[in-house]
Amino acid sequence: MKFCSQCGIQNEDTNEFCSNCGAAFQNQFQSQGQFQPQYTMPTPVINAEDPLKTKAMLALIFGAVGAVMLFFGYTSIISLGLAIAGLVLGGQARKQMPAEHPNRGMATAGYILSLIVVVLAAIVVVGAIACIGFMGCAGAGLFSEIIQSSM
Ligand SMILES: [Zn+2]
Repeated sequence: MKFCSQCGIQNEDTNEFCSNCGAAFQNQFQSQGQFQPQYTMPTPVINAEDPLKTKAMLALIFGAVGAVMLFFGYTSIISLGLAIAGLVLGGQARKQMPAEHPNRGMATAGYILSLIVVVLAAIVVVGAIACIGFMGCAGAGLFSEIIQSSM
């Protein structure tokens, strides 16, 4: 036995239509039985960006941010990390881009900028470590002794 969803009257299971109000069971059954919540995937609003363009842009951004951070002594190690990331991304983008790719120039710029920052940051970082090492080992006293003895 089944009940009409419209009027609540009991009907035979075999009834296709409600004996009281005529509502169609078959359609109801189908629509209810087959109904599955349709999770319509939200269509991505952002157009699928060219991953190579994104890489090239990131290379340029990492290189640029790394370059700026070079001017703040303590962040040179971050510069080095960013620039290495930029170098890798820029290099990958350049390798994967066909010659006519419109963002090839950006990838090259990011790659070269990152390369320069890697070198500069490496010098600063190594210099800073050497300086700390020197100060730690030799100490300011020894340094002043040398200056005094030479006078
Ligand atoms: Zn009915």
